[in-house]
Amino acid sequence: MTEATAKVQVIGGGLAGTEAAWQVAQAGIPVILHEMRPIRTSPAHHSQELAELVCSNSFGAMSSDRAAGLLHEELRRLNSIIIQTADKHAVPAGGALAVDRGVFSHQLTQTLATHPLIELRRSEVQEIPSDGIVILATGPLTSPVLAEKLQQFTGMAYMSFFDAASPIIVGDSINRDIAFLASRYDKGEAAYLNCPLNSEQYLQFRDELCTAEQAELKEFERETAKFFEGCLPIEELAQRGEDTMRYGPLKPVGLFDARLGDFRDPENKEKRPYAVVQLRQEDKQGKLWNMVGFQTNLKWGEQKRVFRLIPGLENAEFVRMGVMHRNTFINSPQLLEPTLQFKSRTTLLAAGQLIGTEGYTAASAGGWLAGTNAARIALGLEPIVLPSTMMMGALFEFISSASPKHFQPMPPNFGILPDLPVRIRNKRERYGKYRDRALADLNDCQTRLNNHQKNAVILV
Ligand SMILES: Cc1cc2nc3c(=O)[nH]c(=O)nc-3n(C[C@H](O)[C@H](O)[C@H](O)COP(=O)(O)OP(=O)(O)OC[C@H]3O[C@@H](n4cnc5c(N)ncnc54)[C@H](O)[C@@H]3O)c2cc1C
Repeated sequence: MTEATAKVQVIGGGLAGTEAAWQVAQAGIPVILHEMRPIRTSPAHHSQELAELVCSNSFGAMSSDRAAGLLHEELRRLNSIIIQTADKHAVPAGGALAVDRGVFSHQLTQTLATHPLIELRRSEVQEIPSDGIVILATGPLTSPVLAEKLQQFTGMAYMSFFDAASPIIVGDSINRDIAFLASRYDKGEAAYLNCPLNSEQYLQFRDELCTAEQAELKEFERETAKFFEGCLPIEELAQRGEDTMRYGPLKPVGLFDARLGDFRDPENKEKRPYAVVQLRQEDKQGKLWNMVGFQTNLKWGEQKRVFRLIPGLENAEFVRMGVMHRNTFINSPQLLEPTLQFKSRTTLLAAGQLIGTEGYTAASAGGWLAGTNAARIALGLEPIVLPSTMMMGALFEFISSASPKHFQPMPPNFGILPDLPVRIRNKRERYGKYRDRALADLNDCQTRLNNHQKNAVILV
């Protein structure tokens, strides 16, 4: 097969690339899948198999009224090769979909390598091919040569190589009796929620931060740590001195709860907080809030325990935990359409961790959409946009429309779905309704596609 006869090339045989190549081939289009391993390897991969799981063997919660489980179910109904293979090689893991990783990846490699329309080419791609339909799926550890080319293609400012992200919290779980909406010195629109601490609460919080357990860094992550000098983990700031956080991200100046009176009134001086944790609005609807300056290496369980000591966050529900690790990703809100096509070149698509979705299942979901749309472009059809009421649609809507300035990778979560028409207080029930709506809209989508509404762009 040559590049000209292949019509579609997929670069990267991880979870996203494997799913993408499969979807292209299933649509009857010849495809070349380029995978650099074993010729060249990444600091996290260990084998030469496709779709290697670089760390845990779990795809997350199985139940479809959980965010990961809903994504599994959507992919299952869309004939995802990754989820079909995961189901086939599942191992007992409580409520999670976990797999026998060796058998899982080996089976996928065999399935793709023997597909008559897929050529598996073991080579490092060093340039973005300028012709034909191309899907970039080279993941968080994209080889440096290609990463540089991608940076040239997108523009210097649109690529990140490190992910120093603070936790993201569901807005509904923040106690608004305590947290107050205000911007510093009342400047501009108040897009910050502020959690005030008195001196006793601050000192207790600092003590817990200083002694909380940290995640062990891998060798290549220790290398990376030196790049974070300008962006220190919150636990390190806490250790540097009693007041360091109060002169940094927890600075209380210019922030006052208007419910307590006018901040300019000297009489209200006593009511000013000793320290303030700020949360910045993360999405258009204000359903997700990002803890400002809380990038961290603490273990995830420890983050939940310690951050819930902050007044207002006692019941915080986290959709993403803080991390500091190497992670190559593009600024998708600037660069991509929700079809996963680049705005500047519609025959170039991207998927996986590279576009800023997070986790194995989300990478597979991106592969499904990019593969499906690449095949549609090859067939002369309009690419599809999935309904934003589906977990897949919501993820791609988020990554293509979030604030480009603060863009950070996002895992599947219910906070990114549009509200239900009626507010349901019970969380389990609410998530069940989200699931029912998502699957009904997916069903509708499939019917429309099967009815050969070939040029219909699905927008809900
Ligand atoms: C260290 C680490 C641990 C993680 N642990 C988890 C976890 O436990 N659970 C979870 O859900 N998510 C985890 N993630 C996040 C993410 O879900 C995974 O990285 C996931 O594998 C991403 O899928 P992907 O297809 O985008 O990238 P990958 O699975 O990394 O696939 C990219 C592929 O592209 C190949 N490639 C790169 N450059 C080139 C090139 N120039 N030419 C040809 N091929 C190339 C690579 O060899 C690789 O096979 C982790 C990420 C990292 C970095």
